Amino acid sequence: MPDSLTRSFANLPAALLERRFELPDEDATLAFGGRFAQAILKVRLAKSDTSNERFPGLQVQLIGDLGAGKTTLVRATLRALGHAGRVRSPTYTLVEPYSLATDTGPLELYHFDLYRFADPAEWADAGFREYFDAGAICLVEWPQRAGGLLGVPDLEFTLEQEGEGRVLTARAFSETGKSCLESC
Ligand code: ADP
Ligand code: MG
Repeated sequence: MPDSLTRSFANLPAALLERRFELPDEDATLAFGGRFAQAILKVRLAKSDTSNERFPGLQVQLIGDLGAGKTTLVRATLRALGHAGRVRSPTYTLVEPYSLATDTGPLELYHFDLYRFADPAEWADAGFREYFDAGAICLVEWPQRAGGLLGVPDLEFTLEQEGEGRVLTARAFSETGKSCLESC
């Protein structure tokens, strides 16, 4: 089994919800990103409408080999959230921040790529921990590289090659993640 996929079968509690999406071509991935973006906004709005609670943010771990489509999915999500500029892969910087102006208010999104992550001390020094506690959306490629530093995500998306296309297995580990997944 490839290194990238082993993580999905270890360390996490039972999922609250699991769904499988066939993504036969890139357009299907782009469409899924659009639905995921709408789901995020809907769940965030519902949270702020129905209680005094603050939207707790969303951590999404993206599992899959090089070329599986992780960055493509992040790009699609960002586009659907209104980002018009480039989406570069943060392979060397580890994180790329986005401040988005959505119809339902400002939204912070952090795109991580931890492929070259090496040093847990760097994680703390760079203040990355705080990004996960600030009501932001954190989309994390190669979460395996950070070991246990990330904790249990709200959602885990595993992308696998199937013929010319991809299959996305999505698992939710929190109520927020489950609500998002139900709307996808
Ligand atoms: P990763 O970030 O996982 O390394 P990328 O998103 O950078 O992967 O690259 C994925 C490649 O696969 C791109 O060339 C993209 O066009 C293609 N791709 C993405 N989604 C699909 C899909 N559902 N079916 C077929 N090809 C896809
Ligand atoms: Mg990538």
